[in-house]
Amino acid sequence: MNNKYYGKLIFELSRQGRVGYSLPNFNYEDAYKMNLPEEQKRQSTTLLPEADELTVVRHYTNMSNNNFGVDTGFYPLGSCTMKYNPKLNEELAQLPSLNIHPLTPDFAAQGCLAIYDETQRLLSEVAGLSQFTLNPYAGAHGELTGLLVIRRYHESRNDSARVKVLVPDSAHGTNPASAAVSGMQVVQVKSLPDGTVDVEDLKTHLGPDVAAMMMTNPNTLGIFERQIPEIARLVHECGGLMYYDGANLNPMLGVCRPGDMGFDVMHINVHKTFSTPHGGGGPGDGPVGVRKGLEQFLPSPVVIAADEYDASDIYFNEDTFCIGESGDTLGSVSGYLGNFAVITRTLSYLLSMGKENIPMAGKLSVLNANYIKERLKDCYLLPIEGLCKHEFVFDGLRPEYGGDHHDDAHVTTLDVAKRLLDYGFHAPTIYFPLLFHEALMIEPTETESKQTLDDFIEVMRQIAVEARDDREMVRTAPHNTPVRRLDDVKAVKEPKFTYKAL
Ligand SMILES: *Cc1c(COP(=O)(O)O)cnc(C)c1O
Repeated sequence: MNNKYYGKLIFELSRQGRVGYSLPNFNYEDAYKMNLPEEQKRQSTTLLPEADELTVVRHYTNMSNNNFGVDTGFYPLGSCTMKYNPKLNEELAQLPSLNIHPLTPDFAAQGCLAIYDETQRLLSEVAGLSQFTLNPYAGAHGELTGLLVIRRYHESRNDSARVKVLVPDSAHGTNPASAAVSGMQVVQVKSLPDGTVDVEDLKTHLGPDVAAMMMTNPNTLGIFERQIPEIARLVHECGGLMYYDGANLNPMLGVCRPGDMGFDVMHINVHKTFSTPHGGGGPGDGPVGVRKGLEQFLPSPVVIAADEYDASDIYFNEDTFCIGESGDTLGSVSGYLGNFAVITRTLSYLLSMGKENIPMAGKLSVLNANYIKERLKDCYLLPIEGLCKHEFVFDGLRPEYGGDHHDDAHVTTLDVAKRLLDYGFHAPTIYFPLLFHEALMIEPTETESKQTLDDFIEVMRQIAVEARDDREMVRTAPHNTPVRRLDDVKAVKEPKFTYKAL
């Protein structure tokens, strides 16, 4: 990997006058009889790098090797996982016949509309709800859509007093953000020391002004919320609706369903649970499902199947599906019918896994997380004991392994994360959720082999021993990566996007 081109800027490789391709001389203005105004004409040459083709190819190939992804190694990020992304789904999403223009007339898009319809139906089955829209483009967008459905529902009953959305303090930041963007007020509900919602605190907030309660299950600590039936009863009794943030649906798959737990509205991050790779912030899709009685509030456009269409039959005609409006809709939330390539991957994943294997994915994700947790908890501090779901949180190294918070020179979660890079593992999520100082959130997912899990466990134990015996070395990690510790605050606050040499 470490060759002459590695880690260099293309400007360092640039040599004046060097070219990759020689284009024919062509006078654009003459050819197109254009008269560009003088001030729009380029007055000086561009400052683009000059390089031959091979140098450019090597530059970009080496740069791509600097990337770390699920295709290069273990990637145990919690909360926003890089899930198993079967290559089959990638191939199907790229089928030219599915790559159609969004304004293609209904009769010529029946196959795509059938995919949409089928995905909707299967998600409804997985979630135990009545109907889904696949239009929202991401989880956060789904939250906003779901909350607008809830607002629309209260408005339809002329109940304008319901302006509060209850959000547990352990929630993902997008929950309070979506509630605020939807025009409602956010009220925080406390958690108990075991990480679950404090029902006594919840009771103090209930009343005729409550529009909804948002919950994530398992929550962002990977803990199953055992009190859901009681919480749903209390919220419903006061006239509010229950919203389920489905970002953590993985361990629930085929085992239990939000609809059966008493939830009225939910979103699913199909790019998390149903296999679209989503590094770098996209692409995604955030289908929103509702229980019976709320379907008419879903956003338009909707895909409508002809009455005589039998979904168990694979045959359809040129007028089986059409695109229409939903009854009492909140309007549209996206340009068209959602992120179609992501929807295709979702259906491909669901069908290729099948009813028999989907519950296996949920159970294995739980087994793998608990296996790592139990084998590391003598080195890393486990603030919440007991069974976790698909992910769990450590609160840094144990004191006897250099993690004593009272010692200014203690080894932090950031140090452990940086040292992991030296061993070729991507770091877990760090400093999230905010409930613990040194949060280290690990989600192995269902698809890693025992071999990989054991390798990871061994390295994590090795780092704990290093932190105890050679603290400075861990505090100055990474030592073998192309770049060392970056100033990631500056990288976010003062990014330099430029095509020029700095
Ligand atoms: C990822 C995540 C979200 C936001 O979803 P996006 O698809 O990233 O917009 C919301 N809630 C939880 C718990 C999440 O993990």
